[in-house]
Parts: sequence; C-alpha cells; structure tokens
Amino acid sequence: MSSAALDEDDPFEEQREEVENPMKRLFLAYGRDYLPQVTVGILASVFARLLDLLPPLMLGIAIDAVFYEDALFSEQIPLVLLPEAWLPAGRTGQFWFTVAVIAGAFAFGAGFHWLRNWGFNAFAQHIQHDVRTDTYDKMQRLNMEFFADKQTGEMMSILSNDVNRLERFLNDGMNSLFRLAVMVVGIGGLLLWINWQLALVALLPVPVIAGFTYLFIRTIQPKYAEVRSSVGTLNSRLENNLGGIQVIKSSNTEEYESDRVDDVSMDYFDANWDAIRTRIKFFPGLRVLAGIGFVFTFVVGGLWVFRGAAPGPFTGDLSVGMFVVFILYTQRFIWPMAQFGQIINMYQRARASSARIFGLMDEPSRLAENPDAADLVVDEGRVVYDDVTFGYEEEPIIEGVDFAVDGGETLALVGPTGAGKSTVLKLLLRMYDVDEGGIEIDGQDVRDVTLRSLRQSIGYVGQSSYLFYGTVRENITYGTFDATDEAVREAAKAAEAHEFIQNLPDGYDTMVGERGVKLSGGQRQRVTIARAVLKDPDVLVLDEATSDVDTETEMLIQRSLDRLTTDRTTFAIAHRLSTIKDADTILVLDDGEIVERGTHEDLLDADGLYAHLWGVQAGEIDELPREFVDRAQRRAARLVEDAEGDDD
Ligand code: ADP
Repeated sequence: MSSAALDEDDPFEEQREEVENPMKRLFLAYGRDYLPQVTVGILASVFARLLDLLPPLMLGIAIDAVFYEDALFSEQIPLVLLPEAWLPAGRTGQFWFTVAVIAGAFAFGAGFHWLRNWGFNAFAQHIQHDVRTDTYDKMQRLNMEFFADKQTGEMMSILSNDVNRLERFLNDGMNSLFRLAVMVVGIGGLLLWINWQLALVALLPVPVIAGFTYLFIRTIQPKYAEVRSSVGTLNSRLENNLGGIQVIKSSNTEEYESDRVDDVSMDYFDANWDAIRTRIKFFPGLRVLAGIGFVFTFVVGGLWVFRGAAPGPFTGDLSVGMFVVFILYTQRFIWPMAQFGQIINMYQRARASSARIFGLMDEPSRLAENPDAADLVVDEGRVVYDDVTFGYEEEPIIEGVDFAVDGGETLALVGPTGAGKSTVLKLLLRMYDVDEGGIEIDGQDVRDVTLRSLRQSIGYVGQSSYLFYGTVRENITYGTFDATDEAVREAAKAAEAHEFIQNLPDGYDTMVGERGVKLSGGQRQRVTIARAVLKDPDVLVLDEATSDVDTETEMLIQRSLDRLTTDRTTFAIAHRLSTIKDADTILVLDDGEIVERGTHEDLLDADGLYAHLWGVQAGEIDELPREFVDRAQRRAARLVEDAEGDDD
C-alpha cells in the first residue's frame, strides 16, 4: 500500500490530535531512564567539538607568535587565560608546545568522539527498544476492530517506521543539533573575542545559510512525498502483474500491460526528476552563499592585513595568523549550517511519529476487564445466549439470538455467508462485547470473568489455520508451553497428524510456517487441531474447520474432530452440512436472526431454509422453489454492494 493511501486512511487521527507535547512526553516517559547515557553523549559532544576548534587556532597563533614573532605568545587568545609560568619562553619551546596542543586535541578529540557516539547511540537504541515493546504490548491488547485489514498496515507502520524515525532523531538529529550549537557558540564566541568587527562580517552569511537550507527542506519535502507515493503505485502495479502473469499471457495483453507499466513508471520518473531538479540546486546554491561570505571576509580581512590598517569603518589591528584563523573557521560553519534544515525536519518527523505512537498507546480498550473479575470455573460446560444483540457499528449484525447448549453437546450454526455465524462465536470468546443481552458459561457472565481464564477454557479451530514460523512441536504446544513430548505425540495422533509429521524431514522439529516447509491446508488444519487437543479446553469452537480441504482430507479431519468433540461443549460452523448433520442442535441463521432450530431430521421435515440448503448441496438444484433462488440472488447482489462500499 502506498504511503499516500495510508495517510488518507488514518484510524489514529483522532487520538493523535489529543496528544499534547509528544516530544516532552517521550523524554519524560522514556528518556529519564537513560539520563546517564545522554548526559555522557552531550558532554562528550561539547568537548569533542571544542577540541576540534583548537588546531586551526594554534596554527594562527604559531604564525603570529612563533614563525613571524609579530606578537607575544602569552598574549594570544586563548593562551592569555593560562598563567604565564606554564608557557615556554623560547621559540623552540613554543613551537613544540603548539605541536603538543594540536596532537593532544586530536587524541582527546578522538576519545570524546567515541564517547559521544556511544552515549547518543545507547540513548536512542534503548528508547527505541522500550517504545517498540511497549507499543507492541499495547497493540495486542487492543480491541479486535483495530485489526481490520487497513489498520494492520497502519500499525505495522507505527511499529516500524515511526519507531525508527524516533531513533533517527534521538541519535543523528540530537548529535547534529549539539554540533551546530557548539559550532555557533564556540566559533562565534572565539571570532568575536579575537576581532568582533571582522567577526560580524564573517558571521553575516550564517543566518542566510540557515534560512536557505530551511527553505530548501520545505520545498523538497512535498516532492519526496510525491516520489514515495508514485513508487508505491509502481510497485503495486508490478506486483499485480507478476501475480497475474498467467492471465496476462492467456489474454494476450502483454502490450496493454507494458503500456500501463510505462505510464506509472513515467509518473515515478517525473516525480523523481522534479525532486532531483530541486536537490541538485541546493549544494551549488550553498556554495555560492558560502563563497560570497568567504570572499567578503577575505576582502575585508585581506585589505586589513595588506594595508596594515583597518579598511572602511573598521578600527583596530588584524594579524596574519588571526586572519588565517578567520578564514579556516568560517569554512567550518558551512556543513553544520547546511544540516540546520535537516535537523528541524528530523525533529518535526520525530514529533509526528511520537504523536502517532502515543495516540496508539492512549487508545482506550473498550473491552476493559471488570476489576472484580474472577476466574471462570467450568463444571458442566453449559452455555447460554440470552437475547443477544450486537453490531460492529451502529447497525445490529445479530439480533435477539437466544439459545442454550448443555454441557458436552454439539451445537451447529449454519446459514448463508454474512448471516452472522462467526460473529455469534466471536462474542463467546469476547473478541467483542454484546450490545444487549448476555452470554453465560455455567452461570457466569463472560463479562464478569477474567479474559485469560475465559480464553483458556475455550479452544478455537478456525478456517484459516495459521502457523507461526517455528517447529511443528512449537506450533502444537503454542499456549500450552509446558506439555511433554509424549503429550504432544498423543495430541497429534488424536488429530490424525502424527503420521504426516513423522514423514517430514525433521519430524516434530521441522520448521513450518512462513519461510518454513510448506504444509497443505489439511495438514495445517490438523496441526491446529492437535493444538486444541493438547489444550484440552472445556468448550470448543470450530469455525469452518474443514473448509478448503479435499474430501479425503476432510474425512481425516472429521475423524479427529469427532474424537475431540465427544464430552465437550462444541460450537461448529460449517458450510458443508454433511459435517454437522449429527449435531445435537442445529441453528439456522439468516440476516443475524435465528430462523430455524432443531436436529437434522427436524429441519428436513420443516422444509425451510435448511432443507433447501441441504438440497443444494445434494445437487437438487432444479427442484428448488423459485423464492429460494430469488433470495440467494438478492443476497449475492447485496454482498457485491457491500464489497464495493468497502473499497470507497
Ligand atoms: P458469517 O460467519 O455468517 O459468514 P459474519 O459473522 O462473518 O458472517 O459476518 C456477518 C456480517 O458482519 C457481515 O455483513 C460482515 O460484513 C459483517 N462483519 C464481520 N466482521 C466485521 C468487522 N470486523 N467489522 C465490521 N463488520 C463486520
């Protein structure tokens, strides 16, 4: 997804605007713990930069006081600050003294540079780590509604881009900031001290360069945003085409697609070229400004030295050595000043990023746990839905759902896609809270028990069996971490998975999941079932556990499921009605309401929606009543409309 698309669809905008002073909060909440590191960084940075200033100054002093003997060594800035007794009197001594100071400045400077990097890096890395883990922690406790597709992208972007941006400012940005401060204060101070009049001339370009770089950053930012957005479009087009290469070839549309790629590539080229045109003007522009300053200082200072008297309105003396110092120092201004705009930019980005991070952290969890929540105690495993109504947004998705399942029984939910079957079960797991009514397990309302104990008591096998990157064993023991190898094997056997696992290259130690050995849908499903067997939950939820597998695998899975569901309260959603026809009760849902209930035989006798669905699956399409077909068509049309609505 392109960054432009992300920006437009920003679910955290509201909270973000409420975050006050995010940088201050960042430093107070996270910076405090690493105060020693940042203090070391700042002090070392100041010392290192000050030491950097010594060699040019000593060169100037040597020119005036040692090489040409035009001035007294002890009266030079900053040597006047030292007691005269410390300074050598003879020229040779003074020469070696100068060499020693320069060598010392380099040696100690290197040490301080090391310390400075250590301090700032330690500060930035620690904060980055703490912010990332805290954000992740908060994120996985957020309500399920945050995990709808687009918001997952947004959260990924907060966890990676925003957290990294903080690190960039805390390290590079703060580093450059202190360098700039020391340069401006240190060099400015020294120059003013040596010759304040020439200093004013030499410092004249500084604010101009600062303004110029700031303007440059302001101009180039939107252009870079444009580049990022067009590269996003280009990438999705390429990805799309590579994925659909078979369709392209079979429809003979290579030329058409080449033209489309040409178009988006051209957009990228234009955006990039626009940014390049601005960028390549910056450094020459900076050089011109720096050059004007240099020439100006050279003319004024040069005339001063050359004539031996102050030119124009200026008064006082200027020695050759100090003139050299001026020229060398003004050169040192240019780079830190060129970064001025960059620092402001980094600060603004870091500020926006911490606002996004704190916006996420401040998001209240609507599903707060009741402070007096007790652990769920399951005895029989009787589950009661009492007149439950719920909607993801304003509009209710399920209404007046009312039923009871006795301990150990199996309840099946059937009905057309979108009827609300999964939603009913998500409420049991308390992924969301009911709007009206209540759900009880053995007389305990799910809202009054701890989330942990609730989810511990319920095993869930969904339609897309997700495996984490890790060994088969780790995937089976996920959530039951202390299981013995023996128990894992037993669970796998019960799930009809033991045999194929043994045939994997490393058996139970084979790496699976993303980047691991690819398992088939049915194999993944059986690993997930083994996980549920091992967990040995009181209540089991099977959400289309056998969809997407072939008939033979379905038979295997069904066998393992049958073993798993005996003596356990089970909820099963299934498209293939054959898999649930033995359920104790079947509820037929349509448009969020229970329209029929009973056993398979009861429902066939009733000759309603269930009987028709059963007929369709048995291949009796021609014998369906007209009304049923019309309804199916209306529903399909509605699903298409919904999908289109989502795209807007
Ligand atoms: P079923 O399992 O019967 O196919 P679902 O319970 O998945 O039906 O969905 C019922 C309705 O709720 C559908 O219209 C679906 O679009 C909507 N829905 C499902 N999940 C969400 C969600 N996270 N946010 C908003 N609407 C949702």
